[in-house]
Amino acid sequence: MAHLFVISAPSGTGKTSLIHAILNDEMSEKTKLGISCTTRKIRDDEENGVSYFFLKEDEFSQKINDDEFLEFAEVFGNFYGTPKAWVLSTLSEGYNVILELDVQGAIQVKKAFPEATTIFIIPPSYADLENRLSKRNQDSQAEIKKRLSKAKEEIKSGEDFEYLVTNDNFDSAFADLTSIVFSNKGISSERKNLASKCLDHLLDH
Ligand code: 5GP
Repeated sequence: MAHLFVISAPSGTGKTSLIHAILNDEMSEKTKLGISCTTRKIRDDEENGVSYFFLKEDEFSQKINDDEFLEFAEVFGNFYGTPKAWVLSTLSEGYNVILELDVQGAIQVKKAFPEATTIFIIPPSYADLENRLSKRNQDSQAEIKKRLSKAKEEIKSGEDFEYLVTNDNFDSAFADLTSIVFSNKGISSERKNLASKCLDHLLDH
């Protein structure tokens, strides 16, 4: 039975690399990643129709009016939306679908699709997150600050997700994700305990 997975994570948590590794795994034959629409500017390493469908604001508004989105949200001043028709047709063709959404989007999808599995990837600490955001050299200091404060907001919703995955190191986080997505086994109690300890720590800071 095809299944819908929604993966969220604060910016800089390593979500994109983990999702790419899942899609390159030999077990991913029946799994596809949704391509969202966005009004944000295209980055140098992106291609229209591959990372996103890049739209003008009026084009995006038209799609909202035509009820073409499963969910949409404003993130960092830009709009992002999940094309509904693609998700429904892909699931009906028997493919599992992974959506990479912000927290608001994940919560909206869970309301529309209670059978969807929601996964939240967390960093082991804010220091680790700040380090990753600085290392990827993509954002200015002001932007990093904005992303860290948004991360703190998003982490407050961590308990609303079915699975918490800690990206303390790539291999362990990848093993957690493949176990959820491909084996339907969930994660070990040891990893669950680690995630809930990390979440408590993040919520305290
Ligand atoms: P970025 O602009 O860095 O690619 O993505 C910014 C944020 O928007 C990320 O948290 C990403 O998961 C989220 N995002 C991407 N597509 C969608 C979407 O269709 N809906 C929602 N709600 N969030 C999205």
